[in-house]
Amino acid sequence: MLEICALASGSNGNCYYVGNEKDAVLIDAGISCRQILKRMTEKELNPQKIKAVFISHEHSDHIRGARVFEKKLKVPVYLTAKTYLGTYKNMQPAWPRFFEPGTPVAVGEFQIHSFLKNHDASEPCSFLVEYAGKNVGVFTDIGEPCENVISQIALCDAVFLESNYDEEMLRTGSYPYYLKQRVASSHGHLSNVQALKLLEENAGVHLKCVFLSHLSAENNTPELALAAHQPLTSRFEVRLTSRREAAEVFVL
Ligand SMILES: [Zn+2]
Ligand SMILES: [Zn+2]
Repeated sequence: MLEICALASGSNGNCYYVGNEKDAVLIDAGISCRQILKRMTEKELNPQKIKAVFISHEHSDHIRGARVFEKKLKVPVYLTAKTYLGTYKNMQPAWPRFFEPGTPVAVGEFQIHSFLKNHDASEPCSFLVEYAGKNVGVFTDIGEPCENVISQIALCDAVFLESNYDEEMLRTGSYPYYLKQRVASSHGHLSNVQALKLLEENAGVHLKCVFLSHLSAENNTPELALAAHQPLTSRFEVRLTSRREAAEVFVL
């Protein structure tokens, strides 16, 4: 049994749960520890099962709650050395555990695979959580799909995939020019259309569910993101995530 849940997803906070009967890991802790615990309780997920937190990169929407979570629950926080150095001092974990991108880390019966991605951070990583022959991908904050993401998404049974912005909304929206450029750049975020293309061309036959993740509050709407991915719904489930509340728990 493998349970997965987007506890928070979006430009103001990301936290993804992957757990079996015994153990669980969090990928990113970009909301407060309090919120993580509250949302887990609401979904009947047991925080005591969490054995590790993995941080994808140092942007605060991915690491904000890690330090308090580490302290309160005595759970190790894994990040790369460069990510640690790029993190604001007040958000750095007190007892960091370092991993090398490309070298898997074992947590209970899970293997956490990490690989570099295109994003404007020190050493940003995507993750593939492997357990009992099943793989869950966490691919957000990717400016464009690199070879790593393309090859790893083919292995996924479920994936949290960024679908950050609608190209038209970004173009005509209120963001200043430099920020529009940043979001759309090869080291910014993935648009609805880019996410669709990535899935259309590379999703494997065993993919069961895609969670549209890290939606922009300014440049996207849940309706537009879902509509963009409509062509895929005959192949697998497409679900939304939210920045305000935990999404439904999905059992693989
Ligand atoms: Zn982010
Ligand atoms: Zn980021």
